[in-house]
Amino acid sequence: MKIYGVNELRRMFLEFFESKGHLAMKSFSLVPHNDNSLLLINSGMAPLKPYFTGQEIPPRKRVTTCQKCIRTGDIDNIGKTARHGTFFEMLGNFSFGDYFKSEAIAWSWEFLTEVIGLDKERLYPSVYLDDDEAFRIWNEEIGIAKERIFRFGKADNFWEHGSGPCGPCSEIYYDRGESFGCGKPECTVGCDCDRYMEVWNNVFTQFDNDGHGNYTELEQKNIDTGMGLERLAAVVQDVDSIFDVDTVLALRNRVCEMAGKEYKKEYKWDVSIRIVTDHIRSASFMISDGIMPANEGRGYVLRRIIRRAARHGRLLGIEGAFLADLCATVIEGSKDGYPELEEKRDFILNVLTQEETKFNKTIDLGLGILSDLEEEMQKEGKTQLSGEDAFRLHDTYGFPLDLTREILGEKGFSVDEEGFQKAMKEQKEKARGARKETNYMGADATVYEEIDPGITTVFVGYDRLSHKSPVTVLTTETEVASALTEGETGAIFVEETPFYATMGGQSADTGIITAPEGEFAVKDTIKLLGGKVGHVGIVTRGMIKTGDTVLLCVNETQRSDTCKNHSATHLLQKALRTVLGTHVEQAGSFVNGDRLRFDFSHFSAMTAEEIARTEQMVNEQIAQALPVVTQEMTVAEAKKTGAMALFGEKYGELVRVVQMGDFSTELCGGTHVANTGMIAAFKIISESGVAAGVRRIEALTGNGVLAYYKGLEETIARLAKTLKTNPGNLTERAEHVMAELKSLQGENESLKSKAAKDALGDIMDKITQVRGINLLAARADGVDMNGLRELCDQLKDKLSDGVIVLASEKDGKVNLVAMASEAAMQKGAHAGNLIKGIAAFVGGGGGGRPNMAQAGGKNPAGIAKAVAEAAVILEGQLS
Ligand code: ATP
Ligand code: MG
Repeated sequence: MKIYGVNELRRMFLEFFESKGHLAMKSFSLVPHNDNSLLLINSGMAPLKPYFTGQEIPPRKRVTTCQKCIRTGDIDNIGKTARHGTFFEMLGNFSFGDYFKSEAIAWSWEFLTEVIGLDKERLYPSVYLDDDEAFRIWNEEIGIAKERIFRFGKADNFWEHGSGPCGPCSEIYYDRGESFGCGKPECTVGCDCDRYMEVWNNVFTQFDNDGHGNYTELEQKNIDTGMGLERLAAVVQDVDSIFDVDTVLALRNRVCEMAGKEYKKEYKWDVSIRIVTDHIRSASFMISDGIMPANEGRGYVLRRIIRRAARHGRLLGIEGAFLADLCATVIEGSKDGYPELEEKRDFILNVLTQEETKFNKTIDLGLGILSDLEEEMQKEGKTQLSGEDAFRLHDTYGFPLDLTREILGEKGFSVDEEGFQKAMKEQKEKARGARKETNYMGADATVYEEIDPGITTVFVGYDRLSHKSPVTVLTTETEVASALTEGETGAIFVEETPFYATMGGQSADTGIITAPEGEFAVKDTIKLLGGKVGHVGIVTRGMIKTGDTVLLCVNETQRSDTCKNHSATHLLQKALRTVLGTHVEQAGSFVNGDRLRFDFSHFSAMTAEEIARTEQMVNEQIAQALPVVTQEMTVAEAKKTGAMALFGEKYGELVRVVQMGDFSTELCGGTHVANTGMIAAFKIISESGVAAGVRRIEALTGNGVLAYYKGLEETIARLAKTLKTNPGNLTERAEHVMAELKSLQGENESLKSKAAKDALGDIMDKITQVRGINLLAARADGVDMNGLRELCDQLKDKLSDGVIVLASEKDGKVNLVAMASEAAMQKGAHAGNLIKGIAAFVGGGGGGRPNMAQAGGKNPAGIAKAVAEAAVILEGQLS
């Protein structure tokens, strides 16, 4: 088997999956985007979550990455196991509703055994207990004997995070041989020791967990795999650990060199060496992604890592600041895959040095405090430092426990380590309590998850805007409550509501809920899991209790404007399919009371004519005052009506069909006008691209159109006033102003060139002869580059033959231009080289073609020298 380097393996992996139709994407930043469940990206899949949930459209359904990852959860393993780093790179291939288990398994096998050439006999797959499908693929399609496939339980082989998408996974282990084993008789695949090393994890996201342990098959099944690049390299290079693979080894050697320690001499030192080696990688990458040391969040993770590295450096006997020096080796080894390391080199080194120096001072401060504590203990006749004091030193001053122990030990004191651990645990629990819980997408977990799942809400608002119903549940922002009082914000749940909750692109109703003893302003209506509708807002008067019968009143104007926009969206979709073709499918929509937005598949920008035709077609349907009829029916019946199904949406057994005359038939759960005439008017205000093959139209209806035209009218009136005319003559006036402007510009140009000529004085006096060639080298101040070139052109006509060099000081800067005639060039003159030669005198650079060149400079004081030097350089060129 060939031995590949880390950088080579990274490339091979990405190229392999590119050959399988994947788009290779650059590693995402270590800082998560829009995801507050994670401090730092810890897997290849993490930054791709929106593609998995369908919230964002992936650039391709197959993607492959090599993602930089940080796992601080593994920090206690670092240096002790062969396979963990806080920093590592994860290779991954991903399918967003495209290929599934068979392909994923086959390709991982092909890559490991054929591309890399690993020994099949040393590879063992594992599958989830119940995943017979994966077992069958490994056994029948790949040909792995049944007894070599391991079945593990949920803890190991089922990937899940709260509610949302989840699924079984299949891992591939590599048997590194008995010498790496723990020697226990039961040691086999899955053992925690370093013999069977998990290299690759294939996650098959096929279920949706509703949050109550009910699993349903996902419509869009995804593949998410992850393989540690360093682990793969350790296997391929047949070395002891990830600290022995080529790039990491170079770093480890540098640590040993700095410490003057030999590796594999003493276990204690080896651990420290590995910790420093690992931590400097984490720190360098984190800083390159813009993370700065701080006392909280990501910055705190970075601070701890830097301090830990510095601390272990001290333990190894390295004196003074050394991290920046080490970081240079990190950059050398990894800049191939991560050019940002090289680009931000100075910045990274700076941050490291500053933090390290600060830490060294901290240590000195800690030493001072410690000696005060010693004195106190001596006075009180104590021999043991309390756990709280030791913890305070550690937590507040960043002074490590082992250092405390060591220093006190030398003087015959001990530390209450149990007390220390207790204080530490308390602190951790506090921190955990402060951290918010999140759901699958990393959104904050909400109070609504506490509501009895049996409670549902029926929507009765298609044909009425007010309704009476009993309150079933009340919540504050944090908990379920039995009453809400004046000034409190929260949510009200009732049995039946006329309020429409945001759904299918239609935004929520607002309005007022009146209870026997109070009133509640509804700011938003939300649809929750399990068919619950929450009315979110604030109690404006009195109080509301569970069990109250309340009157729910929807804001009528807002609802009616929203209905107009929603109905117009249906007309628009049909009009687009008529004007552009039936490839037009809805890709998304949004309507509220103010406007509508419609995204659809189409592959080029619409022409002005297409937009106008679409707009007109919609307005014709409005003018015809078509009746809008809605009916509930089965999906099969709906299909017969020719209803256009929405893209990628799920429907229950019964669907709602909305028909507008014979023009449009759509499945839709939203609210609509009773008659298209009520829309009054339709106006497209923009057409743009939002993604490859997806266009977006924004439009207005009814009052929105009127307001739009009113705005235009005001703009026109303002324009007319500025141009000192009336709206009727605006075009004429604007044309006149533009023409005047043009003529003034022309006049200005000729004045400028005249001024330039004047500045030059009598040029003929300045012509000299250099080896029989006319040279005009002169200074003409106050002329910009364009003016200078123009002037040069004019002079060329006068000079007939020769070389012209002009220099000008303008606004404190220098402009240089040179031209050479045909004859001069034949004798060796070269304007480009000439300008290069003289630009140096004015603190600039430049160059160009043999016949024409220009340059800029910053130092006007050198102009005289530059002009004089022209003759010298030209002489050189001609000889
Ligand atoms: P382990 O049980 O060995 O810690 P894991 O189950 O945490 O591994 P996954 O979350 O499945 O690993 O991550 C996918 C792959 O990433 C692993 O198969 C492994 O190759 C790699 N990996 C995970 N954690 C680390 C780490 N701390 N250092 C280096 N590589 C890692
Ligand atoms: Mg792990």
